[in-house]
Amino acid sequence: MDSLFLLPSKLDLELLDYELYPDRIDLQVISTASSTCCPVCGHLSHKIHSCYHRIIHDLPAGGRRVQLHLQVRKYFCKNADCPRMIFTERFAAGLASYARRFDRLNQVITGMGLESGGNSSTRQAHSFSVKVSASTVLRLIKKCNIPPIIAPKIIGVDDWAFKKGRKYGTVIVDLEKHQVIDLLPDREAKTLSAWLLEHPSVEIVSRDRSTTYAAAITEACPQTEQIADRWHLLKNLSETLERFLDTQRGEIKETALKLSQHLQQTPVNEQVIVADSETLLTKSIPQQAVFKSKYYDNFIKTKELQTKGYSIRKIAATLKMARQTVTKYWDRVEFVPKTSHKRSNILGFEAYLQQRWLEGQQSPKALHEEINRIGFKYSQSTVYHMVRNYPKSAAEPLPASIKATYYSSKQLSIWLGMYQSEWKEYMPIEFLKKLLEENLLIKTARDITLEFKQLMKAKQGDQLKGWCSQALESGVEAMKGFVRGIRQDFKAIFQAFTSEWSNGQVEGQVNRLKNIKRQMYGRASFELLRKRVILMGNPDFHQM
Ligand SMILES: [Zn+2]
Repeated sequence: MDSLFLLPSKLDLELLDYELYPDRIDLQVISTASSTCCPVCGHLSHKIHSCYHRIIHDLPAGGRRVQLHLQVRKYFCKNADCPRMIFTERFAAGLASYARRFDRLNQVITGMGLESGGNSSTRQAHSFSVKVSASTVLRLIKKCNIPPIIAPKIIGVDDWAFKKGRKYGTVIVDLEKHQVIDLLPDREAKTLSAWLLEHPSVEIVSRDRSTTYAAAITEACPQTEQIADRWHLLKNLSETLERFLDTQRGEIKETALKLSQHLQQTPVNEQVIVADSETLLTKSIPQQAVFKSKYYDNFIKTKELQTKGYSIRKIAATLKMARQTVTKYWDRVEFVPKTSHKRSNILGFEAYLQQRWLEGQQSPKALHEEINRIGFKYSQSTVYHMVRNYPKSAAEPLPASIKATYYSSKQLSIWLGMYQSEWKEYMPIEFLKKLLEENLLIKTARDITLEFKQLMKAKQGDQLKGWCSQALESGVEAMKGFVRGIRQDFKAIFQAFTSEWSNGQVEGQVNRLKNIKRQMYGRASFELLRKRVILMGNPDFHQM
């Protein structure tokens, strides 16, 4: 049999014999070198002292484990000045001294370990006839060297959670090479400055909007161009719109109500909005159209953990909920929406109005005055709309109670932050249109939001200053804080509007990092995680 097929070609080995077993191949091999150099003094020696037998594992062949029984020689060192008298023969490449596996097998195992972690790669290795323990896999990863960072010019930095809410680190991505080049153990300004001082080649840094990184970059390399992250900017803008919509709840509810009253006069099959959003959760309206409340989420999570056998105490601790609430949900089969006592819109007064109507009070003006005294804050026309279909005669029944759909400010901020052409069928388009038609301030807030996005998309940084003044004059109070933030970090935000670089790929790398971290079940040390994140998919990892 030609040994070239089986043995690493760089080694001076000769195959003497082999034995085939159902699960493995045993090869009898000897070293053919007639001399070797002393590892201490480098002196060439021909004088053999003895032989010993070593078992070395190699890559599997034909689905069988390959095991070499290698006769290794020991030599005398003939150099009188050398402290070593006897030494074991060394192999040129591919087999480290005292190693039990060929380098090529170690590389395959290390590659798997970097991709899938210790436990998973152990199982994978078994499936193709390599026996290796998880701790060996991890040891091999730890032995890998991280290749030197070669003069990065354009980098992106962001933070990532080692333990959410407690311990954070910093990830540094070479934006040109699309590669994570380093992981820092915290997100302190001084750690990032120190790193930047060691890498003076950096010319452009894309970063989030935190002042910590900004300060670190300014301190370490004031000449470096900073770019604020576009994604965070848009997120902040959306949050600003949400806060503004929070201040407009009354107006939004009025519009929802008017629309639902209008719809209740049209045939049922044409109705779009029919029920209170919380009632909808148990009805057959498409789920994606429904804003799910925090309470609903908590209910579902409680039920999930309950089926998994968690105790009430443990669920409360895991979901950070009060134990009484968990106990309440424990016995319930279906979600029961929380009734709001805060409602000041007309629906909260419907029962009262109906009762008064039946008692004979049928003047909208008088009814408006009455409910005004007990907390109703809106116009008389709302009352008029409400009662205009009530029958004059007591013989006819009153219409069924009106239910309107309300959407959270968060949900609305997402929809209103989209162009009309992007609105999808499941969205309450009619409601959104009516909302914009009836509320000038909401329309203004939406217009300036869309304009900001448009300027960013068209890379028109030169118009950013103008936009800021316009936003300040718009009368939308919530925008003031957002504009202040822009002015404080103007240079970096201007770059976000003009530069071709952004933190988009850094976000992607942070997600990859999170996945790797989860694979290690939270047991990963920082160093191990760092190696896996940097070396995974990196062809240079085998420089061990
Ligand atoms: Zn020697």
